[in-house]
Amino acid sequence: MNIVVCVKQVPDTWAERTLRPADSCLDRASVDGVINELDEYAIEEGLLQAEAHDGEVTILSMGPQKAAESIRKALSMGADKAVHLVDDGLAGSDALGTSLALSTVLARIGFDLVILGAEATDARMGVLPAMLAERLRVPQLSLARKVEIDGNTVTVHRLTEYGYDQVVASLPAVVSVVEKINEPRYPSFKGIMAAKKKPVETLSLADAGIDPAQVGLGAAATEVLSFAKRPPRQAGTIVKDEGDGGSKAAEFLAAQKFI
Ligand SMILES: Cc1cc2nc3c(=O)[nH]c(=O)nc-3n(C[C@H](O)[C@H](O)[C@H](O)COP(=O)(O)OP(=O)(O)OC[C@H]3O[C@@H](n4cnc5c(N)ncnc54)[C@H](O)[C@@H]3O)c2cc1C
Repeated sequence: MNIVVCVKQVPDTWAERTLRPADSCLDRASVDGVINELDEYAIEEGLLQAEAHDGEVTILSMGPQKAAESIRKALSMGADKAVHLVDDGLAGSDALGTSLALSTVLARIGFDLVILGAEATDARMGVLPAMLAERLRVPQLSLARKVEIDGNTVTVHRLTEYGYDQVVASLPAVVSVVEKINEPRYPSFKGIMAAKKKPVETLSLADAGIDPAQVGLGAAATEVLSFAKRPPRQAGTIVKDEGDGGSKAAEFLAAQKFI
């Protein structure tokens, strides 16, 4: 079974994220990059399914050169090989451009199952899984908190506010996973050493046969017109309890229309 896991490098969760004044794109250069949190669950799910179904796991990442660090981390968790789509022409791609680029590479390398995180922590769009499935003309099973494969059929427990739906489809398919679907393994020392030798195919737009006019900031269908820093947090209201703390708190909540 050929399993491909899409992995996005995002700015470190604790780092301050800023947009570049020049082009309003996220400044990825001056902050540490980490694997998108939900993609760690996606990698783990890929490894578990490969172990259960005699499969192979390929990591696919579109990102600047520094994304190679996150690709190596994914390989050190146990993935077999990787494809890094890297080209200056991709900078500033919106979801349309990113989905076009990733789906072109997926069609090129082939897949039985594509696994993604349900969303990325930097843009939080939560649309790539659906866009990839649409472009690849395959089923999408989203927000999976459990994945089962039986022959040519994939079944997921799709997280809902009332519990879960059981969703079934035929392979090839795209699955997006949510937190707590599994417990991502920590790379072992042996895994980290082995990752150094694992193959990473680096593709430019030309290598992948992607039209530069359809990706990057120039092709983006959306434009950031302006942005402003979040106002500094206001000091809170301190309620001194002199036996009337409860009523003062209630008055405060009523004034804020919370109650
Ligand atoms: C602050 C900010 C705001 C943005 N606003 C918009 C907007 O309004 N409209 C728009 O079209 N674009 C927008 N973008 C660009 C958009 O983030 C990228 O195109 C992105 O690749 C897709 O959106 P996402 O990361 O939110 O993906 P999501 O749809 O949240 O991603 C889900 C999953 O897709 C996979 N994935 C995402 N990107 C990659 C990648 N590069 N390589 C490999 N796998 C990947 C990961 O598995 C991830 O878990 C914005 C970017 C930022 C940083």
